[in-house]
Formats: sequence, structure tokens, C-alpha cells
Amino acid sequence: MEKDSFIAKPSPLAEYNTPHVQPIYPSSSYRFSSLEEGIDIFTGQKKGHIYGRFGNANVETTAQKIAELEGMGLDFSPSGVMVSSGMAAISTLLLALANPGDTIIAPPDLYGGTIELLNKVIDQKGLQVVYSSFTDHDILEDNIKKSSGNKILLFETPTNPTLTMVDIKKVTALGHTYGAQVIVDNTFMTPYLQQPFAYGVDYIIHSTTKFINGHGNSIAGVIIGKNAEDMKSKVWTTMKLMGTNCSPWDAWLTSQGMKTLAVRMDKHCANAMQVAQFLDQHPDVEKVNYPGLESFSYHDLSKRQMNGHGAMLSFSVNGGLEEAKSAMNKFRFISIAPTLGDTDTLALHPATMSHLNIDKEIRLSQGITDNLIRLSNGIENPKDIINDLEKALA
Ligand SMILES: *Cc1c(COP(=O)(O)O)cnc(C)c1O
Repeated sequence: MEKDSFIAKPSPLAEYNTPHVQPIYPSSSYRFSSLEEGIDIFTGQKKGHIYGRFGNANVETTAQKIAELEGMGLDFSPSGVMVSSGMAAISTLLLALANPGDTIIAPPDLYGGTIELLNKVIDQKGLQVVYSSFTDHDILEDNIKKSSGNKILLFETPTNPTLTMVDIKKVTALGHTYGAQVIVDNTFMTPYLQQPFAYGVDYIIHSTTKFINGHGNSIAGVIIGKNAEDMKSKVWTTMKLMGTNCSPWDAWLTSQGMKTLAVRMDKHCANAMQVAQFLDQHPDVEKVNYPGLESFSYHDLSKRQMNGHGAMLSFSVNGGLEEAKSAMNKFRFISIAPTLGDTDTLALHPATMSHLNIDKEIRLSQGITDNLIRLSNGIENPKDIINDLEKALA
């Protein structure tokens, strides 16, 4: 057999017509037709793929899609880099931007994994971590002023699981006054419900594992930045060298999931609103945290800053740990699972799950009591969700 016959030929499909859905390209590397072509692609004079860790069609088109959504209607085009998880998005971006002596300023109620990353990894590598209130802007300003080196503000809004909200525009303006770079984790909202770039932030990250994919079948993340040059020279380079690249399969699943983003988010919001109203009038429910409720402290900010109140809510049952346990163990339709953003309704008990490693005193000071239950409302018939809650609370 001729040696040439072992070399993969272009797909016969290319000679006919193209598939409607983007194929998956799991190839670890790419062939060059000549050494000259290889040199041109390596030196960036010609567009082309080199090696899977550097990027491929699935990863790049999905990143671009999310970046375009984050920049929709704005007067600049952000660029995106997809990575292997939401945590990879945060760690890659922080390593790309911060040097020893620089300070990361963050609220203490970030996603548990992010807090652990800051405390167990970032803090040990010569970077300072300062926790601050992000709702009291005087305290925040004091903490920014006191911080050394280059400053990075990192926050989420609304937060997990109490749905506390940060005023993105005000906090970003304050950060920029002191030369800080501002990063928002927009996982809870997606660009459909909240566009942090419209309020001036410099970088957005997502755990696409959650609402952007939406189907609970992939782990991936994305970093989106305003400045294309920094995205290439700092962020992409750090991703490539740290090896935090996204797999083609996860990027592909994410791109498929995203096709229904708007439809899902509308339904998530509508369901969450109905569930929140049901819980709010229930005699065995002490408190409901949902931005859509007029009684909620951040309702006005939610209306101003978001294009919908979101899928996430939390509520406390009358009593303590035993009462919360007893209610959750009665769920038949709702699943107990430590994630969010799926088409299915998911419940989590923060005190014993996501916030298990957080000091009890700190946890309680953040309103994460033993009787608090977090719900990620799915897109099912809302009657099914409410029925399940009704039985669980009876
Ligand atoms: C889940 C989550 C992360 C981490 O994302 P992974 O994809 O699990 O690594 C970060 N931030 C927020 C707000 C999250 O909900």
C-alpha cells in the first residue's frame, strides 16, 4: 500500500455541501501542505490552526458567539477565549492580569470555589487578596485606596445564594478612579439578562457549565475582554501555556445549548417569579430572596441593571436544619444537585453543601442560615415545581 493512503483526505462532504450543524473537530493538530505554509501560520501571517491546545474551530466559534452576545448593541467588539471550566476562567484571567504585589479586591460572598481559589492558591503566590463590602461604597473606596500594586476588582451580581446585588456601574466607576481593572462573573445572569460591558467593566467571565450551556452536560468557561490586544497577548497566551483550554466536545455542547438561550432564560425567569410568589405567601416560609419580588431589598437595582430577574432564588423555611432537611427529602420532582442553570429545577442546601467549608460565623453573617434552601428554577411547567414545593412544605 502506498504510504500516502494513510494520510487523511478531506471529508468527501466538503466536495458536496456543508452540514447544517458545525461538526466536532477533535484533532490534536493540523497538517500544513508545505513547510512554507507551516511557517506562515506559525508566524501569524496566514490564518490557520496549529495544535488543539491553542484553539480550534469549535472552541473559537463558541467563544466568539458569547463575546458577541456580551457586546451586543455596544460600540465595540469584545473578544473571547474559552477554557476548561468556570474556575479555569477565573484562575487563567487572574494569572494573566496580576503580578506579585498586586491586589485582588473581592466581596466575601463569591462562589465558594472562587473563595477557595483566592485563599488557597492566589494568596500563596505573592498576590494580595482583600475582602470588602461591595454594597457600601465608602468601605469599598477605603479598601481600594489601602491596596498596594495594581488593583483588580472581582465580583458577582446577584450573589449566591442570597441574591445580594452589586451596582456594576457605580463600583466600576469607583474602581476606575483608582486605576483598577474590573472583572464581573456573569454566570448567574448570562449576557441575555445582564451586560456588564454596558456599565464599563473590563472583563467578564462565565462558567458556561450553567445557563449558557443550560443542559447540565458539559463543564467549560469563557473569558471575555474589551481589549483585543490584551486578550491575545495576556489571556490567550496564559490559557495556552497553563493548558486550561476547553475541549472541542464541551465547546460544541455549549454552542448547541446556546441556541435556545433566550427562550430558556425567558421561561426560567417566568417560572422563578411564579415560584417566588408561591413561596412568599406560604405560612411555613420565613423569607424569600428573589430580585423579582417588590419586597426584596435589591428589586429596584434589579430592574435597572438586569433585563429580567433571573432563575435563582433562595428561601428559608420556618425552623432550622431539621426542617430544611425534611422539606428537601420530600422533593420528588425537584432534584437535589450541587449545580444550577439546568433546564431541570435543582435544589441545594448551602449550609451543608456549597458553603460547608466556610466558617459558620461568616456564613451566618452573610444570611446563609441552616434553614435556607437555594432553588435554580428550571423550564418545566411551573405547576410541577409548585406542587412539589407544596407537598414538601406540608
Ligand atoms: C459554578 C460557578 C463557577 C465555577 O464554574 P465551573 O464551571 O464549575 O468551574 C464560578 N462562578 C459561579 C458564579 C458559578 O456558579
